[in-house]
Amino acid sequence: MPAKPKVAFYWCASCGGCEEAVVDLAEGILDVVAAVDIVFWPVALDFKVSDVEALPDKGIVASFINGAVRMSEQEEMARLLRKKSKYVIAFGSCSHLGGVPGLANLWDRQSIFEWYYHKAPSLAEGSAQEPRESVEVPEGTLTLPAFWDTVKALDQVIDVDYYLPGCPPTPKLVGNAVNALLRGELPPKGSVLAGTRALCHECPLNESKPEKLLIKEVKRVHLTKVDPEKCLLAQGVLCLGPVTRGGCEALCVKGVMPCTGCFGPTDEVRDQGAKGISYLSSILDFDDEADIRRAIEGIPDPVGTFYRYALPRSILMRTKVVKPHA
Ligand code: SF4
Ligand code: SF4
Repeated sequence: MPAKPKVAFYWCASCGGCEEAVVDLAEGILDVVAAVDIVFWPVALDFKVSDVEALPDKGIVASFINGAVRMSEQEEMARLLRKKSKYVIAFGSCSHLGGVPGLANLWDRQSIFEWYYHKAPSLAEGSAQEPRESVEVPEGTLTLPAFWDTVKALDQVIDVDYYLPGCPPTPKLVGNAVNALLRGELPPKGSVLAGTRALCHECPLNESKPEKLLIKEVKRVHLTKVDPEKCLLAQGVLCLGPVTRGGCEALCVKGVMPCTGCFGPTDEVRDQGAKGISYLSSILDFDDEADIRRAIEGIPDPVGTFYRYALPRSILMRTKVVKPHA
């Protein structure tokens, strides 16, 4: 009987939702387990790094790596899995674009440590110690991974073959990707394994979206009585469907929540946040600067709104705020 293809899963800086997405394959996971040999999956199975090191280069057919790269250990594991894998798949928004952890690029290591270990109100004054990368104890030297200044998407650290977008990717897309892999029917390297058009094209509310869409106010969904049968953006609720890659079947909109952009931009767009800002500017129905300012002030967290999943992969990549928590 031919050997089953070897597959690895790894978890960098993420919330763990992508690991859940694998489990969400439900009974489909049994087919995956029957078809592949999982050689590394720290969150679920007790393998050691030395098990991976002992494999021949390219001995793993595919490594699914979720999470952004924030720590030295994550970078080392990403490089090791790259060396040992024929294909590396960036799994989920954090790995694909930097994700929500990438919003930490508004600050740097020093200012983050300053807040968490010295200034946060929950701390007793002078009680906290910053984590040290190495400490001597009678038994020897203990080490911790280094905390990098900048959060990176996976392909800013290693070569990536495919991207599975989403926060997290849907079980259907995960199943499709695994099946394509097993059948050897993978698209060209660099492909994002989801839709190619913007989300609006698959949204059930698209027919109610006016051809010439103009709004006079940006509303927050939890403060608005929304008509669930009407395009959310046409009602003034900031839905990023027009600037987000399709493929999730408009999951959030079906739950009467606006799309926040987790599938990232479409192939033609380099910077999802800039595209979102530019789109919003084109639909704000004002000539007067004061009106425009008032509408924009209705967005309390512009970076978190337009760059929620993609700050590290944006043109900016990071910003430095000198006194972020003052
Ligand atoms: S803007 Fe949002 S609600 Fe409107 S059609 Fe697009 S995805 Fe659907
Ligand atoms: S609707 Fe938008 S935010 Fe929600 S799952 Fe789809 S792409 Fe992600």
